[in-house]
Amino acid sequence: MKEGGLGVPTRHPLDWKNPKFYDEDDLNTELERVFDICHGCRRCVSLCNSFPTLFDLVDESSTMEVDGVAKSDYIKVVDQCYLCDLCFITKCPYVPPHEWNVDFPHLMLRAKANKFKRQGASVRDKMLSGTDQVGSLLGIPVIAQTFNTAKRLATVRKGMQAALGIDSDAYLPDYQSKSAKKQHKNHQTGVTSVEAVGRTRGKVAIFTTCLVIEMNLSSSMI
Ligand code: SF4
Ligand code: SF4
Repeated sequence: MKEGGLGVPTRHPLDWKNPKFYDEDDLNTELERVFDICHGCRRCVSLCNSFPTLFDLVDESSTMEVDGVAKSDYIKVVDQCYLCDLCFITKCPYVPPHEWNVDFPHLMLRAKANKFKRQGASVRDKMLSGTDQVGSLLGIPVIAQTFNTAKRLATVRKGMQAALGIDSDAYLPDYQSKSAKKQHKNHQTGVTSVEAVGRTRGKVAIFTTCLVIEMNLSSSMI
C-alpha cells in the first residue's frame, strides 16, 4: 500500500446518519484505534495542542500505551482540536485511500457532535460561536461604547471569567457601532459596472519593445 505520497487525500463523507455515529462505545473504539496509530507516528506533534495532549496522556499512563489512557480523558484531546484540517491535508500518510483510513479531523468532529448531543453547549461556547448575535447586540452604539470601556476594568474581566469562563487576560476586540460597510461607504468609486476592454495587446507590446531595443542597439553601433 502506497503511503506518504503527494496525492490529494480521499475524503469520505461524514457518516452522520449512521446510528453508530452517536454510539459512545463505537466512537471510543475508533478513537482508541486512531490514537494508537498517532502514538506510533507522532508526526503532527507541532500542529496544534491535540497531539501533545494525546502524547502526554499516553506517556503519563501506567502502560505508556493508548490502552493505559482512561476513555474519559479522550475528550481532552478532542477539546483541543479546532478543526483546521491541517493534519489531514498536509501531514498524515495514513489518510484514505491508505487502508488505515485515518481522518483525524472528521473523528474529532464526530466526538464533538457526540459531546454536544449528550451535554449541549455551555453559555460561553454559545456566545463565542454566535458571532452574528453577539455582534448585533454589542454593535448598538451605547452598548458598544459601554462594553469597550467595561472590558478594560479588571473587576469586570474577573466577573466574566467566573461567569462565562473567558480568561481575564484574553484579548477582547473593541466592538464598533459603525459596521465596516458604513465606515467605508465614502470609499466607493461610484463605478457600478465594468466592461471588458477587449483582446489583450500583450504580444503587440512585447513585439514593439523588442523592436525599439533593436533599433536603439543598431543606432548605437552606427
Ligand atoms: S484538524 Fe484538529 S487535530 Fe488536526 S491539526 Fe487541526 S486542530 Fe489539530
Ligand atoms: S494524524 Fe496521521 S500524521 Fe498525524 S500523528 Fe496521526 S497518524 Fe501521524
